[in-house]
Amino acid sequence: MKIGVVGTGYVGLVSGTCLAEMGNDVVCVDIDEGKINSLKKGKVPIYEPGLEDLLLQNIAEGRMSFTTKLADALDCQVLFLALPTPAGEDGSADLRYILGVAEEIGKQLAGYIVIIDKSTVPVGTAKKVAETIAKHTDRGFDVVSNPEFLREGHAVEDFLNPERIVIGSSSTRATKLMQELYSPFVRETPGKLIVTDEASAEMIKYAANAMLAARISFVNELSQLCEAVGADIEMVRRGMGSDERIGPAFLYPGPGYGGSCFPKDTQALAHMAKEQGLELSIVQSTIDANSRQKQVLPNKVRNYFKDDLKGKTLALWGLAFKNDTDDIRESPALAIIEALTKEGCNIVAYDPQATDNVAQKYQENKQLSFVHNMYDAPKDADALIIATEWKEFFAPDFERIKKLLKNPVIFDGRNLYDPSEVGGYGFYYECIGRKIVTG
Ligand code: NAD
Repeated sequence: MKIGVVGTGYVGLVSGTCLAEMGNDVVCVDIDEGKINSLKKGKVPIYEPGLEDLLLQNIAEGRMSFTTKLADALDCQVLFLALPTPAGEDGSADLRYILGVAEEIGKQLAGYIVIIDKSTVPVGTAKKVAETIAKHTDRGFDVVSNPEFLREGHAVEDFLNPERIVIGSSSTRATKLMQELYSPFVRETPGKLIVTDEASAEMIKYAANAMLAARISFVNELSQLCEAVGADIEMVRRGMGSDERIGPAFLYPGPGYGGSCFPKDTQALAHMAKEQGLELSIVQSTIDANSRQKQVLPNKVRNYFKDDLKGKTLALWGLAFKNDTDDIRESPALAIIEALTKEGCNIVAYDPQATDNVAQKYQENKQLSFVHNMYDAPKDADALIIATEWKEFFAPDFERIKKLLKNPVIFDGRNLYDPSEVGGYGFYYECIGRKIVTG
């Protein structure tokens, strides 16, 4: 098939590349000229494991092209919209990118096309997109809702081996085309293809993200209670997660969830309910618990230093919102940087992939600096904070860190280590929901 993808970010670029891998011809469209120019040169603008190799291979085989002009993609059979849907001021999903492109499609459409909403969008958006296009054309088209479930850090693997593909459509013609498009991905497991109406497809994505976010907030709140009553959240998590009905996934305590999805999608879902005069109190509590959780690490640091943070130097390991990505949107590391530099700390940060994005965001913040080796961060620092669970932090040289730090103090937002082992090296070690070890 000839496929267009509008928006070549984390979702669009991965989707386009994986669809090309299945033998389709893919035209990637983006308004960001810098992005398109670097893609034309074979440079991948984001970090996503496995993406670069696959992209280069498909470019070399002539199945992918890149353009800033939407018109170049309008002769495709299907056109994916993988555009941003950020949270508006009231928490609702901002549909300006989607509807703006829909209007352009309407103005330039030449023949039948299936428009696919891949972005996470509120219920009713497929209808709004269709109405917007129809205002400007009398050509035939269908709008399908096809939310994406890939996880950053595993995006290529997830797209190529999806757990499910949701197709929301009321058009038989469009549904058939979508089934054909996705058949190579579900050849052995056709049951993974879920065909439903547009509204349910749109809701499935929000429901899934809200449930995952709720699990994280639940375990984060429990971790605070564990600290207060002397229980160990790691044991509690394992004990709970071994119940088949509960399962172990998304029960890891941490510094608060971040990323481009959970924060905005929970807000958008809560907003959608409010518009209907309903309250999704569990979703709202999930959001509130998460904003409190983002202050847990800064508070631990404040308490340890008795609120005397002026002039302290802190080493920070991890800037990305999770491991294996360079995405820093809503990353808990940003909350740590903002809270602690405001109170007079200097932060020396290290991240294997996300440094450039954070440096770009905080160009004005002179208290923040970056190093390119993890052991350069703790040099002469008053403490080490761990904010992201990069694998290279899992088994560090504790003797070396102890020699480098001014004080042997670690705040671990990801519970990476065995407290008694770290304590054995003489560290003060504080993590989430477990007893403090004083070395
Ligand atoms: P992104 O910000 O990485 O990418 C969006 C791209 O769209 C950018 O490259 C931007 O330049 C481009 N763009 C903006 N306006 C445009 C226009 N008018 N024409 C062409 N291109 C334009 O966003 P993302 O993380 O890929 O997310 C896209 C959507 O997918 C969002 O709705 C998000 O909620 C959803 N989603 C994201 C993930 C994820 O893990 N990132 C997972 C599932 C779903």
